Amino acid sequence: MHKTTCLLAAFLALSLPGRKAEIPSSAAAAEAEAMYADLADSYGIISTIDSGLFATYQGKDRAAWDCVYGEKRKQLTEKLGRISASGLLPLDARALDVMNRHLRDDFPEQFRDENAPPKHCQDAQRQDLAMTSLEGALHSCFTEVGNNLEFEGKRLTRVSALGMLEEINEEERRKKLFYAFEPLWNAVDGKHNATSPYRRLLPLVVSAEAAHGTRIDSAAKTIGVSPQEVEHWLEQILDTWRQVDGGEMVEPWNFGYRGGEATRLLSSVTPKDSFVSVNQRYYRDLGADLQQLGVLYDLEVRPGKAPLAYTDYVTRGRLVDGKWRPTVVRISGSYATGGLGLLNELIHENGHAVHMMAIHVRPAFMDLGDALFVEAFADVPSWNTYEPAWQRKYLSRAAPEAVSLRGLFSSVMLDVAWALFECRMLHSPGVDPNAVWTEITSRYLHIVPHPELSWWAMRVQLVQMPGYMVNYGLGSVLTADIRQHTREASGPFEVGNQQWYPWTSEHLLRFGEELDTSTY
Ligand SMILES: [Zn+2]
Repeated sequence: MHKTTCLLAAFLALSLPGRKAEIPSSAAAAEAEAMYADLADSYGIISTIDSGLFATYQGKDRAAWDCVYGEKRKQLTEKLGRISASGLLPLDARALDVMNRHLRDDFPEQFRDENAPPKHCQDAQRQDLAMTSLEGALHSCFTEVGNNLEFEGKRLTRVSALGMLEEINEEERRKKLFYAFEPLWNAVDGKHNATSPYRRLLPLVVSAEAAHGTRIDSAAKTIGVSPQEVEHWLEQILDTWRQVDGGEMVEPWNFGYRGGEATRLLSSVTPKDSFVSVNQRYYRDLGADLQQLGVLYDLEVRPGKAPLAYTDYVTRGRLVDGKWRPTVVRISGSYATGGLGLLNELIHENGHAVHMMAIHVRPAFMDLGDALFVEAFADVPSWNTYEPAWQRKYLSRAAPEAVSLRGLFSSVMLDVAWALFECRMLHSPGVDPNAVWTEITSRYLHIVPHPELSWWAMRVQLVQMPGYMVNYGLGSVLTADIRQHTREASGPFEVGNQQWYPWTSEHLLRFGEELDTSTY
């Protein structure tokens, strides 16, 4: 872990005051960037319309924005094709690189919203689907099946059910609720053989990413180590947990409950109706006024809504007539129930929101950058929900520290386990995922083996963006480091600190994609 610490120390010490980085120096790059900014904004607006938050934006409906998107994409493609990188200043050359990469990876010719279900879950059973369609179909399984889990005569969302597994006191009911996930597991992993949708997806992902590397390769690159080292670190983290967690074997339906004591103790002071105001108060105390920043919230449960919480741009900040027009960000989540874990999730999403709002650079660089850093940063403020002082201030009651920390680390360890699972699966896509998951969870988390169940299939990311879990699992190491360095540089922030957001924005967030995370 030492290497990460050094890297972070170096980049936290960095400060480049007084630059005018938002102005591109070559006229051709500037023209391309103006088109790029329009393209990105039309994409953000169409995604927002598709999410159901609003139907029109600035007087234009989806069809009109779709036209803008198509036009801008065409103009930009032509423009970028005509600019030669030779003779450009390094920053302009980098801007071209970044725009070309996003044009290739994130702005497809035909608009596609990754958060909207483009396919039906049933389609995942078709043997001839290409990667993107299969990912889309499996993503739909989390909406259609995962958000309709049947338990005690009621329908539950996956997120609520996971929360309830921490809270239900009777073991028999927990077991029933755990098995209520079975339709979801079976939708993702079929008959647990080589024709299962998930097992068909992985080789497609591996070959599609052969040229640019998997998401695990990207995460490794972010911190300047090899993917093998990442895997080894994940094993070391889990092995430490294995040695200290007490060693008692636990059924999978009891794992959440065992780590959930803080959630139970605080359940009466964490109703879902309190989430938005607690979140706003906390961020205001950190120096970030979310209302003033204009963050848009879409937190109601409704049919067909994205099956996981996420944060995205509506429009990105840029200079208009010499004045900075701020970024507009939206947060989507479904909070049918309360609880500490879900409150922590909302605060994590708002971590992304304040990150996006802090980026202040030229259009080519107005994006979050490396996923590892992005996910790690969002947990910097959210981990405080497990601090007794935070709980006392914002919930008026605190759980004992040991209990809270067990809650936090239980969920971190599951993330690390999923990250290791994906390392191994993407490395050997032909192996049986149930066997890999059983080996990891029984050995390191002391969970009783159930190789007959595909209970690893709980997270949307596993099918929507295979390899992404490393950004949480490995990201936790960065989170801990950033928290420590931030405390040293600008003081403790468990119960607020007006310097936290200004300091973090200036030293950590404002660069967007102007710099490589691995070098700053
Ligand atoms: Zn996140």
